[in-house]
Amino acid sequence: MPTPAESLSAVREVIAKAARTARRDPDGVTLVAVSKTQPVAAMLELGAAGVRDFGENRVQEALAKWPELLAAHPDARLHLVGQLQSNKADEAVAHAHAIHSLDRPSLLAAIARAAQRHGRCPTLFVQVNLEGAAQKGGCAPEALPALLSDARTAGLPVEGLMVVPPLALEPAPWFALTAKLAADHGLPLLSMGMSGDYATAVTIGATHVRVGSALFGART
Ligand SMILES: *Cc1c(COP(=O)(O)O)cnc(C)c1O
Repeated sequence: MPTPAESLSAVREVIAKAARTARRDPDGVTLVAVSKTQPVAAMLELGAAGVRDFGENRVQEALAKWPELLAAHPDARLHLVGQLQSNKADEAVAHAHAIHSLDRPSLLAAIARAAQRHGRCPTLFVQVNLEGAAQKGGCAPEALPALLSDARTAGLPVEGLMVVPPLALEPAPWFALTAKLAADHGLPLLSMGMSGDYATAVTIGATHVRVGSALFGART
């Protein structure tokens, strides 16, 4: 089993190669190490190798690990990538660098109230759901313009889109459609690509890849 630091070198090489293929600057791709279920020790190992962006699905788990991570790396950035309940919005806004899973007006309203209270707001991505009701979470493309407009009205402009393609389907078309939607709405950031498909995502324009098991090994 490679260590997280060894896997990191390999993942960085894949990103650099995919970026070169697409004539993109590899520095335009942020590697978010998705550390859900992983111990802080593994995160610290990646921290020592230069990783500062860590992704978590659950606010509670993130907050439990964060003090130790911040003690070693005060500039570590928390990316919340999982479905977010509105009652977690306050802690999310207080601690996250980015929320990748904004997907509905009620969550936007909770984030807006929390942003008022804390005087800060994380970078916001809207998670899009391109396949209809089958998938949990995510904003339908028809609902996207209203959500983006509500966010602007609330003074919290959305900066990007996030997508999780359906399992077991070829991901490239979903990435391309998400990139097109983002471009249509003038959104510069694209959070797409996981362990199985981040190289593809980079060639299609991902600015943030969310990689877990390719760095840390399989989750238990
Ligand atoms: C778990 C998770 C990831 C990372 O998945 P891997 O396949 O382990 O890379 C990325 N994005 C989201 C939303 C996740 O829940």
